[in-house]
Amino acid sequence: MKNNILKTAVLTALILVLANGSQIFAQNEGKPNIVILATGGTIAGSAESGTQAGYTSGQVGIETMIDAVPGIRKLANITGEQVANVGSQDMSIEIWLTLAKRVNELLAKDDVDGIVITHGTDTQEETAYFLNLVVKSDKPVVTTGSMRPSTAVSAEGPLNLYNSVAVAANPKAKGHGVMVVMNDQIHSAQGVTKTNTTSVQTFMSPMQGLMGAVIYGQHEFYRGPHGIHTTESIFSVEGVTELPRVDIIYMHVSATTDIIDFSIKAGAKGIVIAGVGNGNMNAAMLEACKKAVDQGIVVVRSTRVPTGYVLRNAEVNDDNYGTIASDELNAQKSRVLLMLTLLEKKSTEEIQKIFYQY
Ligand code: ASP
Repeated sequence: MKNNILKTAVLTALILVLANGSQIFAQNEGKPNIVILATGGTIAGSAESGTQAGYTSGQVGIETMIDAVPGIRKLANITGEQVANVGSQDMSIEIWLTLAKRVNELLAKDDVDGIVITHGTDTQEETAYFLNLVVKSDKPVVTTGSMRPSTAVSAEGPLNLYNSVAVAANPKAKGHGVMVVMNDQIHSAQGVTKTNTTSVQTFMSPMQGLMGAVIYGQHEFYRGPHGIHTTESIFSVEGVTELPRVDIIYMHVSATTDIIDFSIKAGAKGIVIAGVGNGNMNAAMLEACKKAVDQGIVVVRSTRVPTGYVLRNAEVNDDNYGTIASDELNAQKSRVLLMLTLLEKKSTEEIQKIFYQY
């Protein structure tokens, strides 16, 4: 009898462990458990000298990066995983799907409290926004990177990583959606954009302002994120193996429509116009967009201007052309939202509502 009770207890414990997946952290010691997922970028870049502008992204492995940050293990129990090691100009939808699925898998575990993702700065806002839409947890997820390679004089990667772990380890960061922590600032994935090609002060949230600040790990939130995200989002990557093709077409003086024809022939299901001003384009481009819409392609009007809204039915009558106004999303984030939106068929009205809400 006793033996049977013991057997049942062991079996139950085994089932519980299996149901929860393998344990990530062996011991807790009362500190939060943070997983760092590394994808490459300049933060993992190296050059031959500390003062040269040229370097190669994605050279240094995650363990070396963690070891380069004094005191980081005092903030949390940390494990690292190398998901990819690329310059973020080579970030891909394939890596996004792997990353998103891994983030969801990890955050579903009781012994994982938060995630930090190291990433190149070039496309970081796109990855952060993508994750903001498909992560199914309110636990903190932070992306970070650096503008100077790990070998540079005054490389800022180690402090960015330290600050990111500090934010991810704080239960108060829960429910803020995906955050971008760089240069002592906390941005929301939805609001942030890269604004400078080389400066360490490159990330800004021009429409919304900062979500918070972080100085040597001490941080404060000023506000929550704007737009629907994570647990409230309707988007999911479960069972998704690819995303529909969406192209961005840049508007300029004398832009020609053949580029739209090419995009359609190449199989685009959606087109984002990085328009001039309030999402404007020349008359021929507008007609080409209407033709695309008539063929079932979803056309979103965004803008090449760094700040401001693209308003529905302002200079362009979207009702007549069947187009969607991007509201406050820039072209690259409009593309992310549109790719996910197109995973399921929706009416123009539904898609416009999504652009207002996310
Ligand atoms: N090209 C680099 C990247 O995005 C730039 C950086 O990380 O700062 O990976």
